[in-house]
Amino acid sequence: MPLDPTLIRLLMHLRQNGITDKNVLAAIERVPRELFVPESFQDQAYEDIALPIGFGQTISQPTVVGFMSERLMPNKKAKVLEVGTGSGYQAAILSKLFRRVYTIERHRDLLKSAEQKFKDLRLNNIVPLWADGMMGWPEQSTFDRIILTAGLEMVPSVLFEQLAIGGYLIAPVGKPGSDQKLLCFKKDERGISSEELWPVRFVPVLGGTANDPDQQTVP
Ligand code: SAH
Repeated sequence: MPLDPTLIRLLMHLRQNGITDKNVLAAIERVPRELFVPESFQDQAYEDIALPIGFGQTISQPTVVGFMSERLMPNKKAKVLEVGTGSGYQAAILSKLFRRVYTIERHRDLLKSAEQKFKDLRLNNIVPLWADGMMGWPEQSTFDRIILTAGLEMVPSVLFEQLAIGGYLIAPVGKPGSDQKLLCFKKDERGISSEELWPVRFVPVLGGTANDPDQQTVP
């Protein structure tokens, strides 16, 4: 089937912006972003912008998804933990690049909808969980990579504990209301080191879980 011209344009744009990893570009080509975007935004599914997915949350901008995926050093032997499933799009991209993707979302309805998409696309190496991702996933620990797709002031130490030696953790870090920076942490025998990547803007991490409409009134 020929590629959608808006998808071709997006792929060119990502290349021009410095995303060079062939596997990352192939994953973006193969995962239909329109499936993860609400009906009313279908015409913008392949624009390089974040879009609303309900409950005050957003599907990330393709450039950011591409960069974060690339910086996670894709490896078919590695297992990844994602905190903040949202629409499921980032998890779907990671599923093409890693052995297994564990993804946690605090909004039950968002998780259910993402889970259905994983089934429809037969992405059988994604394991979703409805929980507060700030606790990580002790039963499945350790992880070779951890990616946070919601902004926070400080990465909880429990997530570093669940990161394998030699692993990377990537997260948007910044004080609420101020600029966030994407940080990439590396864990080795001596401890944790970090590298600052780029300024970003992600919705904030929220505590606990939300499962009924009354709890889901996020502005
Ligand atoms: N990766 C997503 C974008 C995520 S937006 C995508 O590709 O579409 C951030 C998500 O993090 C939201 O869905 C929000 O509900 C979730 N979130 C916020 N705090 C959380 C927490 N403590 N645990 C798990 N998920 C959380």
